[in-house]
Amino acid sequence: MAAGVELGFAGAAAPGEAWRLRSAHFPSKVGGRPAWLGEAGLPGPAALRCGRCAQPCALLLQLYAPLPGRADAFHRSLFVFACRGAACYRPPGPRGPLRGDLEDAVPDHNEFLFPEYEILIEPEEPESPADSSVDPDDEEGAVDTSENSDKQEELRATGSANEALECLDEETLEAMAKHETEDDKIFQKFKERIAAEPEQIIRYCRGGEGPIWVSGENIPEEKDIPNCSCGAKRIFEFQIMPQLLNHLKVDSLGESIDWGTLAVYTCANNCNEGNQYTEEFIWKQDFSAGSM
Ligand SMILES: [Zn+2]
Ligand SMILES: [Zn+2]
Repeated sequence: MAAGVELGFAGAAAPGEAWRLRSAHFPSKVGGRPAWLGEAGLPGPAALRCGRCAQPCALLLQLYAPLPGRADAFHRSLFVFACRGAACYRPPGPRGPLRGDLEDAVPDHNEFLFPEYEILIEPEEPESPADSSVDPDDEEGAVDTSENSDKQEELRATGSANEALECLDEETLEAMAKHETEDDKIFQKFKERIAAEPEQIIRYCRGGEGPIWVSGENIPEEKDIPNCSCGAKRIFEFQIMPQLLNHLKVDSLGESIDWGTLAVYTCANNCNEGNQYTEEFIWKQDFSAGSM
């Protein structure tokens, strides 16, 4: 894949074209059964169980991601498995992903599997300069400031016996407002960035531009991303967008499978011990309570 960000979209496989999603065609796809690249070194049932409830995970998606200039990663796919239990989506998140360089443990009855779609990849078009003519951040900032000073004036005018208590409350409220504003900014940026292609389910950019976050909370620092077992750093490779949830036919009322975004980090060296499938690292970020 190329240097810029590439976007993935879910496309219904046309009837009679299901063959496109089979192993021999190195598919990128959502759901269904995993189309393993090779039988050797397949992960066993234990590796594909949820780390929280120990139930088997279902294939969430697989992405064909060969590395240019790496003969040993000429055929390379990333597999992300996810638990179907809604309770397991309170942090931390889904299992995986597994990276593989070339009958499995996952139950294959239809109610268990996620619906299957082909993932179609397109480069992200650079933003047009016209889009940046209005800066909503500035407007927001101006409104916030005047509100705050109004409140402060009110507070000064009150001068009641409860003043100390009110001051405390005001401070707490201001801190919360400030926090929400920072969060809103990040969510606003997220929305602006995806506005041109709101249906995107994947953003791929290995080692390039990092993920776009949905909130200011729970953004990983470098120390939060563990190194690969080979000792090399893990680098950002792609993120799974919340739009994918719309395609999974999961219950949208009450508690269900959920995330803001899932960021996948993989070994910078793409270490490859005898064509094994290797477990990589995923970071789940939720929407903050204020943004939805
Ligand atoms: Zn689970
Ligand atoms: Zn490694």
